Amino acid sequence: MSVILKEIWKHAQVSRVELVASTGLTSGTISNLTQELIQLKVIREYQSISGLVGRKRVMLGFDLRYYRIIGLDIGRSSFEIVLTDLAGNKLQATEGNVNGHTGPEGYWAVIGPYLEAIKNDVIAEGLKIVGLGVGVPGPMDHEKGILINPPNFKGWAGYPLKEVLERQYGLPAVIEDDARTSALAESRYGLGKSGADLVFVTMGIGIGSGVIFNGEIVRGTNSLYGQVGHMTIEPNGMRCECGNQGCWETVGSIIGILRRFDCGDMNAFMTAVREGDSDALRCMEETLRYLETALINICNMYDPEIIVLGGRLFPYISEYLPVIQERLRGRLFAFAKDRVLLQPATFGESQSAMGATATVLDALFSRPLEVLG
Ligand SMILES: [Zn+2]
Repeated sequence: MSVILKEIWKHAQVSRVELVASTGLTSGTISNLTQELIQLKVIREYQSISGLVGRKRVMLGFDLRYYRIIGLDIGRSSFEIVLTDLAGNKLQATEGNVNGHTGPEGYWAVIGPYLEAIKNDVIAEGLKIVGLGVGVPGPMDHEKGILINPPNFKGWAGYPLKEVLERQYGLPAVIEDDARTSALAESRYGLGKSGADLVFVTMGIGIGSGVIFNGEIVRGTNSLYGQVGHMTIEPNGMRCECGNQGCWETVGSIIGILRRFDCGDMNAFMTAVREGDSDALRCMEETLRYLETALINICNMYDPEIIVLGGRLFPYISEYLPVIQERLRGRLFAFAKDRVLLQPATFGESQSAMGATATVLDALFSRPLEVLG
C-alpha cells in the first residue's frame, strides 16, 4: 500500500496498468490493494480522456473528500494552524500572536481553543482527521516527540509535546523541528516536488536549515544535521549559545544585525539603509557577505539543486537575491555554478505549518493502516 500511495503522490493520477509497470507488483495485487485503499477513502477513481481517439481511462488519485490533516507551527511569539486535504491543499488557516515564554501551559490557553474548534468543525462535517503535525523550535527529539532545550523558549526544555497532544486531542501527532518542516513543505508541495535535493535556510532571530536528500529529511547522529547557523564564519568572533564562537547566527541573524547596528528593530534598520546611513549600509553589506559565504559553504557541503531562503529576516533582504545569486556563481565550482538555484520560500508565513501537515502525509504513506487506525 505504501508503495502504491507514494507512486500516486508522485504522479497525482495514475492508472492500474501504470502501477503494475512501476511497482513490479502483479495486477492481482494492485487490484486488491487499490480496492482496499478506495474502501478506506484514501484514493478514488477518476475518469480521464486520453489519446487522439478519446479513449476513456480510469485513473487513480487521492480522494480529497474525507480526510483532513492539521498542521501547527509553534513559534516563540506566534502560531499558525492550517487544515489541508490529502493533496496538501490549504483549506483553512489561523494565525496569531502568543507569548511562548510563559511556557506550555500559557501557550495552550491561547491556541487550545483554536485547535478544538478546527477539530470539532471537521468532525461535525462527518470527516476524519488523519493526524496533527507540529513544527517546533529545535533542538528536539523527533522519535520521542520531546523538545530538548530550545534557546529563547523558557519552560519548554524536556516538554513531552507528542504525548501531551495525543492525549489532549486523541489524534496521532508527529513532531518535527520547524526548519525541517519548512524544508519538507518545499519538498512535498513546492519547489522540490519533482524530487530535487534541497536545503531550506530559515533566517530570523536565529538561523537554521532543513536538508532534504533523496526526498527524505536528513537528521544526522545527534539530530544536528543542517545546523548551518552554527557554522563558524568569524574564527575569532563572539561566543555563541551553542558553545562555539563566531557562528553565522551571531552576526547574520536579526539579533546579529541589531547587535551591530543598534536601532531597535529591522524596520528602523531598513529605513537607515534606505536613507544611506553609512553605518547601516556597512552593516547590510557585511550581512550579505556573511550570507554569501554561508551559502557557498552550504553548496559545497550539501551540493543541493535548490537552496530556499525563508524566515522573518528574509523579506528585508529579498531584494538582494539576484545580487547574491550572481556573486554565488562567481565562487562556485565552474561546472556547477549554473546548477544551484536560490529561491524564496513558497508558503511564506505558513511554511512550517504546511510542512507539519506533510509530516503526517509521510507517516500515512509509510504506514497507512497504522496511521488510519
Ligand atoms: Zn553557535
